[in-house]
Amino acid sequence: MSTLAINGGKPVRDTYLAYGRQSIDDNDIQAVVDVLKGDFLTTGPKVAEFENNIAAYVGAKHAVAVSNGTAALHMACFAAGIKNGDEVIVAPLTFAASANCVLYCGGTPVFADIDERTYNLDPNKIEDKITDGTRAIIPVDFTGQSVDMDKIRAIADKHKLTIIEDGAHALGSEYKEKKVGNIAELTEFSFHPVKPITTGEGGIVITNDDRLYERMLLFRTHGITRDEKLMTHSEGPWYYEQLDLGYNYRITDIQCALGSSQMQKLDKFIARRRQIVKAYNEAFKGIDEVITPFEPDYSNSGWHIYVIRLKLDKLKVSRKEVFEALRAENIGVNVHYLPVYLHPYYKKLGYQEGLCPNAESVYQSIITLPLFPGMEKQDVDDVVAAVKKVIEYYKI
Ligand SMILES: *Cc1c(COP(=O)(O)O)cnc(C)c1O
Repeated sequence: MSTLAINGGKPVRDTYLAYGRQSIDDNDIQAVVDVLKGDFLTTGPKVAEFENNIAAYVGAKHAVAVSNGTAALHMACFAAGIKNGDEVIVAPLTFAASANCVLYCGGTPVFADIDERTYNLDPNKIEDKITDGTRAIIPVDFTGQSVDMDKIRAIADKHKLTIIEDGAHALGSEYKEKKVGNIAELTEFSFHPVKPITTGEGGIVITNDDRLYERMLLFRTHGITRDEKLMTHSEGPWYYEQLDLGYNYRITDIQCALGSSQMQKLDKFIARRRQIVKAYNEAFKGIDEVITPFEPDYSNSGWHIYVIRLKLDKLKVSRKEVFEALRAENIGVNVHYLPVYLHPYYKKLGYQEGLCPNAESVYQSIITLPLFPGMEKQDVDDVVAAVKKVIEYYKI
């Protein structure tokens, strides 16, 4: 057995492999340079072009692009009418933004537990959490795996709730052969550099509903409009009115030019991600101590991240030691995520440990392995070798 790097042995690789990374080519660079030489830096023709590209890709009617995915979630909650005192059901195993957007609107996030196999919101755990004050559900397509949407839809319809899908991981993913983004009333995507495509920072909300679309356009830019159909009156060509309290959440033409250029490669990026996932699944099949991602029939994931779960009862150590040993081998592992309500801010609000037992126990045993389209075969082989080396050493 070779000595672990953490115990002074030679690491599997000499250089650090990050868990995620953008893929930028010369066409992307040229698209940005072209905008810099043109007339518009912020809102110009590239914003609408990018919105049209994304809406067409997912097959939906409207898209509103904003400065980041968190702003997009805030905008979606505003459009859905979330306000003081409203309750919103939220998945716990996610990035804090999935729940923060409810707080921004004065609402209360109500966490419902996840399914232990899919790590997504368990439809059977939702109804217990619904009260007269519940207005919406925010399911998260964790890792890119789509949520069990027909079941969530049935619950939402029965209780007249809006579904705001946090698809930050899931641009290009499918539910029953339909693209995520064309299913929920509102779907958010993020364009942070580790996400399926990037604009540096950026986010978008997709909807088929004209009224929700209008509300989002207002929200993105201070609640201000120049549309005479919406204004109380007009005092002349200079005149505009603020109709609601919005924000400056605008995205720039520079970012959207990059986004449209990236969109041309999304399917290629996803194909490469799927290839790597297949290689990982094959390589880890024989390792009894590791649970590879479960893929439900209804979901065709674009694989934003690859999360393995350790069978801790078959290991001499906890997740922490395995994690540190992999980092010492120069593999940029990560953990997604501490259940949102266990953050100190949420604990101060009164949320307590034990609220979602599945999310908490999954959190204790998961590790995210590197996965991004630019990974070479050698990178994939290194990750596999490191996992095998570390597990072999720590298994009972
Ligand atoms: C990345 C992410 C967001 C927010 O995206 P930003 O663009 O970073 O603001 C929201 N939800 C989830 C699950 C994410 O992973």
